[in-house]
Amino acid sequence: MKFEYSAENNCIGHKMLKQLTALIMSMPVLVSASDIYLKNVTIISPNNSSPVKDAYVLIADDKISTISKSPINIPSNTKIINGEGRYLIPGLIDSHVHVSEMPGMIKGEKSDYLKDLEKTYFLQQPKSYLYFGITRIQDLAGDNRAIQQFQNSDISPSLSFCGMIPIADGYPVNVLGLGDPYKAFPYLVIEPNDSIPEGVNRAEHTPERIVDKIARDGGSCVKLFFEDGFGTESHWPLMKDQTVKAIITEAKKHGLSIYAHANAVDMQNIALKYDIDVIAHGLWNWNEHAKSENVPNAIQATLDTVIEKQIAYQPTFNVMDGLKALTVPNTLSSKDFSFVVPPSILSWYQSEDAQWFKQEIINDFGNPPLPILHKIMDGIISRGERSVQYLNQKNYPLVLASDTPSSPTYAAQPGLSSFLELKHMHSVGVSLGRILEAATINNAKLLNVDKIEGTVEAGKRANLLLLKRNPLETIDAYNSIEFVIIDGNAYERERFMAK
Ligand SMILES: [Zn+2]
Repeated sequence: MKFEYSAENNCIGHKMLKQLTALIMSMPVLVSASDIYLKNVTIISPNNSSPVKDAYVLIADDKISTISKSPINIPSNTKIINGEGRYLIPGLIDSHVHVSEMPGMIKGEKSDYLKDLEKTYFLQQPKSYLYFGITRIQDLAGDNRAIQQFQNSDISPSLSFCGMIPIADGYPVNVLGLGDPYKAFPYLVIEPNDSIPEGVNRAEHTPERIVDKIARDGGSCVKLFFEDGFGTESHWPLMKDQTVKAIITEAKKHGLSIYAHANAVDMQNIALKYDIDVIAHGLWNWNEHAKSENVPNAIQATLDTVIEKQIAYQPTFNVMDGLKALTVPNTLSSKDFSFVVPPSILSWYQSEDAQWFKQEIINDFGNPPLPILHKIMDGIISRGERSVQYLNQKNYPLVLASDTPSSPTYAAQPGLSSFLELKHMHSVGVSLGRILEAATINNAKLLNVDKIEGTVEAGKRANLLLLKRNPLETIDAYNSIEFVIIDGNAYERERFMAK
């Protein structure tokens, strides 16, 4: 289309110009769509034993083309970024999130006002991850509609997903309350002796069919549930042994990895008997060992099996942190929330209506006064911490897995929770070097993308962060992002801020 401005088409021309301006304004602003040249930058990458100072990095198209200790000859239209006093690290990866749920949103029928808030949330969600430098995520629930919407955003982190395979009367079907489970859970499996409602075709819910469906839908893993009740309770049915085995056999045939939801010692012990790849939660329910100090033998034995079988371990501190934060006054006044939560949503979170889940949590714990509730929660958190410390002391590699949002708590926000998860890992003694590995190369290996992501190396995808502070000196470096580079395009961090 040719656009000419003249007196005759003044009116139309003006309108087009306005539309064009509006279009440009609404797009995330790039520093450059051309090649990028970073000068005098310090590279901190898990493949290097120490920082590489005064490095020159050329990014061409979507890849790191050259890394050199001396200046590189660059094409004339290359954008130059002065990296002096700055740190270049790989983009971060969070291997346990959920993109289909808005934190804090009520269940069931919603007013138009709430529907609008939800729309606003889903538009901001990918940006919130990018604001905190998360350039790849893995969703562990696999709601196809939400995943497609996420991937169709103007700009978003890369996303892979697991198909979750529940049974009709087990967890999480029984707590999510989504109505007819045969409709709400596309990968629900029916076991041989289950009675089923009329109209449901048993043959479509065999382990073989379900796993095949997950693979055809583009899933990269399956998620199984080992949960017989929260805390010490044990009243929910578990999937039968032969069903678990059939699913795992089928998943391996399709090259899908196996994630196990389990956070209690008896449940992790069951999960560890199978050929699983990942335990998707920390170990914070110690059952009869709950009152033990340090790490009792029974817990050590479970964690030793994790190490021996080389099972990837996701601490997910945020699960409990997110619940506790809901019951702590002033949680939302932390400035970090305002960077990732749009103002309209933040003000709704402060309303009476949005406190429903906080009330539910307090009731679930038997309505104790807040100081008592916090003491109980701190006990649970401490057991999760000691489990992670045990693995860390044995030099067992961890992964960044925030489980955002693991429940409807508004305290668990995309991006911010990943950062808080790293902070919590650091606070229990995981070194900054190991934190960087957990958030980059360890997750890249887990998600099978370590050949193309996870380090700053020539030939790899240019998903990178330029930090103002040194991530080997302070955990707050992960909250000092200057540029987020995705597929070779550099964006100022502020562009992803919630509005
Ligand atoms: Zn989860």
